[in-house]
Amino acid sequence: MLSFQLASIPGVSVLAEEPLSRHTRFGLGGPAALLCDASTEAACIEAFRIIQASGAPRMIMGGGTNLVVSDAGVRGVILRYTGARIERNNMHLRVESGAVLQDAVDTSIRFGMKGLETMTGIPGLVGGALYGNAGAYGRSIQELVECVHATNGNGITAFRNEDCHFRYRSSIFKDSKQWVILSTELRFTSGDAAALAEKAAGIRAIRDAKYPPDMKCAGSIFKNLLFAELPPSAQAQVPPTLVREGKVPSAWFLEQAGVKGLRRGDIQVATYHANLVYNDGAGTAADLVGVIQELKRRVYERFGFELEEEVQYAGFES
Ligand SMILES: Cc1cc2nc3c(=O)[nH]c(=O)nc-3n(C[C@H](O)[C@H](O)[C@H](O)COP(=O)(O)OP(=O)(O)OC[C@H]3O[C@@H](n4cnc5c(N)ncnc54)[C@H](O)[C@@H]3O)c2cc1C
Repeated sequence: MLSFQLASIPGVSVLAEEPLSRHTRFGLGGPAALLCDASTEAACIEAFRIIQASGAPRMIMGGGTNLVVSDAGVRGVILRYTGARIERNNMHLRVESGAVLQDAVDTSIRFGMKGLETMTGIPGLVGGALYGNAGAYGRSIQELVECVHATNGNGITAFRNEDCHFRYRSSIFKDSKQWVILSTELRFTSGDAAALAEKAAGIRAIRDAKYPPDMKCAGSIFKNLLFAELPPSAQAQVPPTLVREGKVPSAWFLEQAGVKGLRRGDIQVATYHANLVYNDGAGTAADLVGVIQELKRRVYERFGFELEEEVQYAGFES
């Protein structure tokens, strides 16, 4: 039996029928048939090999901050790599993917390493950040990555930065979904620790006002838009001052479509930010998906293009 096989690997623990609402920032989602945590690289490789050989549906999870899990939950196995070491060597950090991103940010700031400070306050783990090429304030993690180590259940493969196919909120790991990211090597430039800390504190204050730490949400629901890829009729309506580094905030289109404050059940679109949807109590994934579809529909009807989710879905196969 798969559960027994996995639990017998040293460094692996398994929970059966574990509610994913306990492990997602939205506080939503039914159970995972098996939730499997692997604490060492060897354990993770072996667990992933066994899961794949079993043919069971499987999914990798990090901190659950960017996930919409269905009310029915996830059939099959969810695998998490929990190795979280952060090692410094001059201007380099080697970080395991189960480390909290903020811990890597804090370490870099403490040692006067410049580059991650703008990612202060992005929730989740380092593996999730690499998968989605997380970023903020015009910077993204790809700028620091020298190398990513990942497994497909058969040893460890090293991906150089260019092999990761990083682009806006995406990577090769998102394209193929056949890899568990295990660790990364990040390269920094030298900076002044006090100045970096001050910058990070400023960013943290802005972020905490926008996303209170106890808010059950995923940050932005939709990716921003590349201006060049918008239909000409939509381009013509965008105020030029909104276009930054070739992108237009999806919040602007949502706001024009009048979605601020929209509510279904306990799922709420923020009154102050049209691209922020949160669970205001006992929301359901069904209502959340309903709201997301409604937002997409309104923008499509008004501007003639479809918004693309930044959040990832789990358990919606049927
Ligand atoms: C309040 C708030 C603010 C946010 N602000 C930002 C922001 O400014 N910028 C930004 O980029 N994001 C932001 N996010 C989104 C989110 O925090 C990031 O996408 C984060 O990097 C996701 O990490 P995670 O560990 O929670 O991943 P999860 O949500 O657990 O997973 C996300 C995806 O990554 C995959 N994944 C996770 N770990 C691994 C791994 N080890 N190997 C392979 N695949 C893996 C999963 O399969 C899943 O598809 C915000 C979220 C919240 C709640």
